[in-house]
Amino acid sequence: MYKVVMEQFERAADVMGLDPGVRTILAQTNNEIVVHFPVKLDDGSIAVFTGYRVQHNNALGPYKGGLRYHPTVDIDSARALAIWMTWKTSLAGLPYGGGKGGIEIDPKKYSQAELERITRRFTYALGDNIGPDLDIPAPDVNTNSQIMAWIADTFSSTKSPSTRFANLHVVTGKPLGAGGLEGRDRATGYGVVVTLKAWAERRNENLRGKRYIVQGFGNVGYWTAHFMAMEGATLVGVQDASGTVRDPEGIDPEALNTWVEQNDRSVAGFKGATTLDADGFFGIDCDIVVPAALGNQITARNAGRITAKVVAEGANGPTDTEGEAILRKNGVEIIPDILCNSGGVIGSYIEWLQNKRAEYWKIDEVLKMIHDKITTAFASVASTAVEFDTDWRTSAYIVALRRLEKAYKERGIFP
Ligand code: GLU
Repeated sequence: MYKVVMEQFERAADVMGLDPGVRTILAQTNNEIVVHFPVKLDDGSIAVFTGYRVQHNNALGPYKGGLRYHPTVDIDSARALAIWMTWKTSLAGLPYGGGKGGIEIDPKKYSQAELERITRRFTYALGDNIGPDLDIPAPDVNTNSQIMAWIADTFSSTKSPSTRFANLHVVTGKPLGAGGLEGRDRATGYGVVVTLKAWAERRNENLRGKRYIVQGFGNVGYWTAHFMAMEGATLVGVQDASGTVRDPEGIDPEALNTWVEQNDRSVAGFKGATTLDADGFFGIDCDIVVPAALGNQITARNAGRITAKVVAEGANGPTDTEGEAILRKNGVEIIPDILCNSGGVIGSYIEWLQNKRAEYWKIDEVLKMIHDKITTAFASVASTAVEFDTDWRTSAYIVALRRLEKAYKERGIFP
């Protein structure tokens, strides 16, 4: 993933003629924190876990980005994902930089009590490297509001009581009772659909009757499907690590979600669809492909099978450089991740603002704010693509990089 994000960056920097000094700065991450910490498991044995937090850049504000719990978490992926966050927050016009991290772990192998101890001890190990005005983690793959609540509680409990309430805001994506935001749960999926609506409008179309497939049925996949159903689109295939299901007549997202909740978070075996070989997934006949799982999924191996008109990148880095070249050659449009899935971090920003102001906002206001920020970003990506006669990913980078370049030029470099 690091290779992919750097190739994307170099390409955009070339096309726009990015200032060489700024280019050198942005090609590096600011800080890389690796922690090893012991945790007592339920059977009394002790295991040592490895956690990461990479802080890429904070020229525009505190580092911001999720924590994922997955066996693929390592320094390379944390670096790449942190860098994508810098572009994403800049493009969305937020006062944030980019960070990312997580624990190299398969959370399915641990009990809730173990996950709580692992999370609390990880938070303790990160110490003052995170903070509500320094670096603000959030949910990502396999992490959720419960995990954010444990982080907030541990972080604030290990600081002076006089700072407890400010320190609770060290993370976003908290549960509602712990200062969370109404709508933060659905923010990413909602944003994916906002970008797809904007894409359809540019073609003088809408999403009614459009057939789409989703890879990954976690938070992003499910909420995307939920909002796509409200637009009248038809879900014709879903894939996750457990299996692939399809139904040309349409899969009910709510029924599939109930199944997943009752079956170890797996789509395999869902009764409302037929099973398909994993390799057949991207070849399913449809109009829209939504990768909403892990990185490097659309590659030279399968990109040629995609017959859809557009790939909406709900995941971070789902398309590698070779896969992208094939999509471009075949005329498949891409709504790039740093635009497509930015609803999540925009929701996080609204939660952070709400916390700073000690207010509680209503879901309708929240979704409207996300909608407005994403449509603004989409419009600048589209116009910048025309200005530079380039693709949407490159133009999204250019919009993000211009803002960073301006910040560096105006402020200068200390000392
Ligand atoms: N993990 C999400 C992302 O990749 C959200 C990050 C955040 O809210 O800080 O954009």
